[in-house]
Amino acid sequence: MSRIAFIGLGNMGLPMAQNLLKAGHQVEGVDLNPASLEKLVTAGGTHVEFAKVAAARADVVITMLPAGKHVRDVYLGSGGIIENANPGTLLIDCSTIDVETAREVAAAAEARGLFMVDAPVSGGTGGAAGGTLTFMVGGSTQAFERAQSILDKMGKTIVHAGGAGNGQAAKICNNMILGISMIAVSEAFVLAEKLGLDHQKLFDISSRSSGQCWSMTTYCPVPGPVPTSPANRDYAPGFTAAMMLKDLRLAQDAAKSSGATTELGADAERIYSAYAASGEAEKDFSGIFRFIRA
Ligand code: NAD
Repeated sequence: MSRIAFIGLGNMGLPMAQNLLKAGHQVEGVDLNPASLEKLVTAGGTHVEFAKVAAARADVVITMLPAGKHVRDVYLGSGGIIENANPGTLLIDCSTIDVETAREVAAAAEARGLFMVDAPVSGGTGGAAGGTLTFMVGGSTQAFERAQSILDKMGKTIVHAGGAGNGQAAKICNNMILGISMIAVSEAFVLAEKLGLDHQKLFDISSRSSGQCWSMTTYCPVPGPVPTSPANRDYAPGFTAAMMLKDLRLAQDAAKSSGATTELGADAERIYSAYAASGEAEKDFSGIFRFIRA
């Protein structure tokens, strides 16, 4: 059993922390939102005001924060986690952030004798609640091996992607594929309508042909063919357009700084940016179908 400090108990962090409690770990939570802290206490956890206090008495620190600037502040800021954790403590950042920040924080942690992995997730709030997340992990083999027994209480698939920052690299590449493929599938359904082809017919054919992909078969952006997809509940998220846009921006920043050519990634960022600005930022990202049709 580990003593875990869990910083960032939002839509993802709270259910992940609840799964750690169910597995018998002690969890001390830190969040700016008192309602989240109360829910953690109801599930058997404790809470404290400052991350540095929780970090100083933990064996493992997990963060699940909105973006790179929050991760930087919480780890590197004066009175942050790295300054206050005891040598040997394992740090796991599950937030989706830029590769550069992930590598900078990991280097600062290593310099103080801490073990760190970046471990962003795929699987959304459903995966967080069900303990079925996929973790893409960057860090040393030793840090990865220590993190595995904690991550497997929150996820089903745990992949070591390489050194520090490679978990974030994998996440950004994966979500760039997802953003582009959701637009491609949505454009195909819009074209099918214009050509007098039923949504269901296109689905029946494409889901078993070379157009098959996750955006078609699991998360179909039109109502009907896949009853569990957000299209059947007016595009309630799910995974919001704002979050998809955040990840596409991270991909474009990474492409620019590394010199990669990602033309469709750039188009996807532009299209999601227009969709989010149309007042739909908090709708599911698959609602891009409605935007393209309009
Ligand atoms: P969220 O906004 O619901 O939760 C973030 C939490 O962090 C909030 O409760 C906020 O109060 C807290 N927080 C912010 N700054 C803090 C600080 N300085 N100290 C303590 N707490 C602080 O976001 P989320 O949906 O849980 O997403 C978290 C991360 O997971 C993001 O990086 C996101 O991109 C990634 N992600 C989300 C999903 C999803 O479907 N929601 C899926 C995959 C990955």
